Amino acid sequence: MALLPFYIPGKRRIKVVIAGGGYAGMAALTTLKRYAPDAVITLIDPGDQHLKITHLHETFRYPLSNLLVPFSTLETRFGCRHIQASLTVTDELLRQWQKDKYLVANDAIIDFDYLVIATGAESRQAPQSGNVLTLQHFMYTAGPDLLLKHLNRAHKDQPIISVVGAGATGIQFLFEIRRYLSRQKIDAKLQLIHSGDRVLAQFPQGFDDYVQTCMQDLNIKAVPDVRYHGQSDDQIQLEDKQSERFYELPSHLTLLFLGKKQETVLSANAFGQAVVGQQALRHIFIAGDCSVYKSPGSNVLCAQSAVRKGKLVGRNILRHSGLLALLEPYLHHDIGYVVNLGPTDAVGWLVTEGNIVTGIPALTIKELVEAQYDLLLRGIDTYVV
Ligand SMILES: Cc1cc2nc3c(=O)[nH]c(=O)nc-3n(C[C@H](O)[C@H](O)[C@H](O)COP(=O)(O)OP(=O)(O)OC[C@H]3O[C@@H](n4cnc5c(N)ncnc54)[C@H](O)[C@@H]3O)c2cc1C
Repeated sequence: MALLPFYIPGKRRIKVVIAGGGYAGMAALTTLKRYAPDAVITLIDPGDQHLKITHLHETFRYPLSNLLVPFSTLETRFGCRHIQASLTVTDELLRQWQKDKYLVANDAIIDFDYLVIATGAESRQAPQSGNVLTLQHFMYTAGPDLLLKHLNRAHKDQPIISVVGAGATGIQFLFEIRRYLSRQKIDAKLQLIHSGDRVLAQFPQGFDDYVQTCMQDLNIKAVPDVRYHGQSDDQIQLEDKQSERFYELPSHLTLLFLGKKQETVLSANAFGQAVVGQQALRHIFIAGDCSVYKSPGSNVLCAQSAVRKGKLVGRNILRHSGLLALLEPYLHHDIGYVVNLGPTDAVGWLVTEGNIVTGIPALTIKELVEAQYDLLLRGIDTYVV
């Protein structure tokens, strides 16, 4: 058992419920088990497997099964229990749970000392039809199967595929698809439709410059400054943002990556405890993309922050349950972010946003970060904090 500074355990084994078995939930689980192996942990998640979603675009190269870790495996590995259910979270329920210290999932009453909400962020929705795919589809079926099914159905000599959304997810899928089409010698056109005047707008300008050059080299058409309104038959409906004119473009398959909804996020204090109204709920912690912490730390919706919040929450739950009850504030700052541009290229920043890396160095950083997370899932924590 590793030693956690400022944690002097009480006599009782603590009971923790974690809702959400994604990056933040896994980080909370592994941290709790690292410092308190006898903690009784119940994981609630509607799925039956943990999905390493940061690799999802890579199913154009590897089987989807490579990204899945069954919760049954994690139950054995970490000595926890998984309940396959979805927990509805409202302010009223949070207050209720704080008072009652139990909740109901699948008709079972589960007692807890602490509850962690780590349910992620929902994707933005838009009108869909038969030839529209979203991130959700890729969570259940590998990229090539989805793509080929739709392209075969389109019966076109040179089908047009549209990727809508130029955030990290849209760009990563765009380049994976381009490379996949080339490898399979499939003659299809690819276009990127997005609402801004540059791609990867949340990152430094250098990302846009690099990606636009790569898109030109790979013959990917850019359609900037438009709003997506829907898809019918083989046409995508768009609105020019400046002129507000509606128009259509041919598209035989449209992939929507519209980003995450911000409306469903929960607030927390600097220690990760849920705040409802003005009141901190001392036994309910939140982490990951569903949370915004009132602290100087990073609230970016990314796996790095999700893992750091999950780990902090694990440590703070133990400290709160211990004899000193001294909690640690969330101060994590992301030290980089890398966006894959297919199997052999990437663009990212490291240490400072001005330090842009591309190609093999960027890919290597990404692989190191992913390997660190894989080790965590195996119970080996190599994170400095
Ligand atoms: C294709 C792709 C590539 C990405 N690449 C990167 C990257 O390179 N680097 C990076 O830092 N970030 C990346 N991200 C973002 C990163 O994946 C997220 O920020 C991260 O997964 C957030 O972790 P989380 O635990 O908050 O949520 P998630 O990982 O989304 O997990 C949420 C979990 O909660 C469960 N759940 C949902 N609702 C409920 C409910 N009501 N009750 C119980 N359980 C529930 C879900 O089933 C899921 O298991 C990428 C995202 C995508 C889609």
